[in-house]
Amino acid sequence: MIPYENLGAVNKPFFEELKQSFASTLESGWYILGHQVKSFEQAFADFLGVKHCIGVANGLEALFLSLKAFDFKPGSEVIVPSNTYIATILSILHAGLKPVLVEPDIRTYNIDANRIEEAITPRTCAVMIVHLYGKCCEMDKIKKICSQHQLKLIEDCAQSHGAAFKKQLSGTFGEFGAFSFYPTKNLGALGDAGAVTTSDPDLAKRISTLRNYGSEKKYYNDLIGYNSRLDEVQAAFLLVKLKHLEEINNHKRKLAAIYHQHLKEDFIKPFVHADYLDVYHIFNIRHPKRDQLKKYLIDHGIQTEIHYPVPPHKQKAMQGVLPAHISFPISEEIHRTTLSLPCSTAHSEEDIYRVVEIMNKF
Ligand SMILES: *Cc1c(COP(=O)(O)O)cnc(C)c1O
Repeated sequence: MIPYENLGAVNKPFFEELKQSFASTLESGWYILGHQVKSFEQAFADFLGVKHCIGVANGLEALFLSLKAFDFKPGSEVIVPSNTYIATILSILHAGLKPVLVEPDIRTYNIDANRIEEAITPRTCAVMIVHLYGKCCEMDKIKKICSQHQLKLIEDCAQSHGAAFKKQLSGTFGEFGAFSFYPTKNLGALGDAGAVTTSDPDLAKRISTLRNYGSEKKYYNDLIGYNSRLDEVQAAFLLVKLKHLEEINNHKRKLAAIYHQHLKEDFIKPFVHADYLDVYHIFNIRHPKRDQLKKYLIDHGIQTEIHYPVPPHKQKAMQGVLPAHISFPISEEIHRTTLSLPCSTAHSEEDIYRVVEIMNKF
């Protein structure tokens, strides 16, 4: 059996380091907003080359707090891709704003930069893009649109730790980069964790105040804040994992290269272009008989996943929230045909050659 994911195996190479960092955090007696969080924030900001990183509770909150930091007028519109994980859209709704969905580019699966301008109205306040599957969006076009229309840019980087467009890392383009460190992400904690990155000192201060009850000075509350803190134990784990992020990304790229080179042409493979440095959070292919293929692979001992089976606008939760009878044919086509193949640090090159061999007989 080749599992899709095996988090125990993914973390095994780091067990000794993780145990040591847990022990030292335990013995420190300081469990919230202490030395580990500060060190991780500094290390992650340095890794990206931004001025500030603020640890928060999870990826959803990183997105939500990024929106809250601006104090947009309630009901203002935020442009967002129609094919993303639901969290991106939920963050907009939780912030009292209106998501305006824009179709993806069928090659990259990311928001189609050429369709953003037609979605802009006088109520548009921000563009929230998603670097899906570990590939950056077309950032030169998107940056230009945002500056021409004076829109704030927030990047959902939950799947793109270390990914780059024209040599610039994701999380460094917009006013904010919002990261998740959910255990399956390329940089994964051992529980929930997230962070917001920015190079604007005032925005950084807004986020760090909002995440801690609107308080900068203990028991003095300046803003209507939240409890959305990254805890010391997760920060200590993340410091260990961050040192190995390049190695993790390189391993995933090496496995992806095997798929790219050897999978037969029946399968639509991820778009490859010199402008993009991909990190393959997810390695997906598309096939018209996706469900049959998934079953065939299970019958041959290979687990796969679907990211995602139901597009956000078709989710029950969105009934009455997004305009009724809204249709996003490109997004729906992706959701109907996409299949995510094993591609983690728990997989060896041999595993991938085995998957290829079986797939090519489909
Ligand atoms: C994982 C993910 C999130 C949410 O992260 P959590 O830490 O689970 O809240 C948001 N957006 C995308 C694209 C994701 O993949």
